[in-house]
Amino acid sequence: MKFATQLIHGSHAIDPATGALSIPIHQTSTFAQKSVDHFGRYDYARSGNPTREALEEAIARLEGGSRGFAFASGMAAISSTFLLFAPGDHLVVCEDVYGGTFRILTRLFSQWGLSVTFVDATDPDAIVAAITPATKALYLETPSNPLLKITDLRAAAAIAKEHSLLTIVDNTFMTPYLQRPLELGCDIVLHSGTKFLNGHSDVVCGFAVVADAELGKRIGFIQNGFGAILGPQDCWLVLRGLKTLKIRLEESQASAVRIAAWLDTLPQVSRVYFPGLSGHPGHTVHQGQADGPGAVLSFELTDLELTRKLLEGVELAAFAVSLGGVESILSYPAKMSHAAMPPAERATRGISDTLVRLSVGLEDPDDLMADLARILCD
Ligand SMILES: *Cc1c(COP(=O)(O)O)cnc(C)c1O
Repeated sequence: MKFATQLIHGSHAIDPATGALSIPIHQTSTFAQKSVDHFGRYDYARSGNPTREALEEAIARLEGGSRGFAFASGMAAISSTFLLFAPGDHLVVCEDVYGGTFRILTRLFSQWGLSVTFVDATDPDAIVAAITPATKALYLETPSNPLLKITDLRAAAAIAKEHSLLTIVDNTFMTPYLQRPLELGCDIVLHSGTKFLNGHSDVVCGFAVVADAELGKRIGFIQNGFGAILGPQDCWLVLRGLKTLKIRLEESQASAVRIAAWLDTLPQVSRVYFPGLSGHPGHTVHQGQADGPGAVLSFELTDLELTRKLLEGVELAAFAVSLGGVESILSYPAKMSHAAMPPAERATRGISDTLVRLSVGLEDPDDLMADLARILCD
């Protein structure tokens, strides 16, 4: 079955008990048992809930994995995954990793004896150079946030295999519709489902997906033990949002392609970061591993005052954190996603004070461009 069909059909789509075309919200914490000797499939809802299970089966199939796990947030999925590691272990992490991931690695997991080296993962040699005898995993994001840098996932996974490391990929920006890291040799895919997967800016959730059964058992043990599960109502909302993933992303991506090309022509814009532009340094690598550039782009303005005017004056994009919703969102990395980073560190990573990030929603792109032009070309 092709991707669009998989979104609509499968075990997540029809209630096996009644035939309902929507999986019921099993709002229960526990399940009555019939026999002292043989408990049923479900006993306690932290360990398993049919609504959550439907969603977990859906994300596993879409990513080409064997098991999927739904968590209370993207950070819950990411933190739970780091519990695979033990004191003394070392991770190699892409330097422009999501700010929340940077924060838990440097301020929480460091206290538990997990050490990290941040590298420019667009350079495979830099990854190899950072590997030590204690290294257990590579942790990657591609395209990265907010500069949309591209890491070659096949090359990274090959390096990892050679050194017996796990490859973990945060696939939030692409979703399985555009990029399936397990097919490229990676081991664990993570998501903030808050973004494109749910897509309607009304749920916070996260996912982990694996292909390997043994790894699936380990993450299942952590999910049940640590308990950062997604509740059934939110699972239902994500199941509903997921059905339109393909058409939402196709539409937003087509608009993002047009908007990026247009921004690139403006004298007020000094640089556009978007893997769909042929001038993007990762353009070719991205084309070789993903089915499209996605719907998030960043651009740098020539002037700080204009940056402020744009953020405060824009009407059709919300000035907000987050991305991947049906509503366009304009955000300001220096004061939002990367505010926790010291200004000097930000500067060395190329996140300037005139950089803005646009997540393109489902508005008509002509209206979005007219709204931006009203301020940019004033
Ligand atoms: C938002 C985001 C996260 C964190 O997810 P939450 O659902 O907010 O906890 C992690 N990684 C990326 C790339 C994100 O955009």
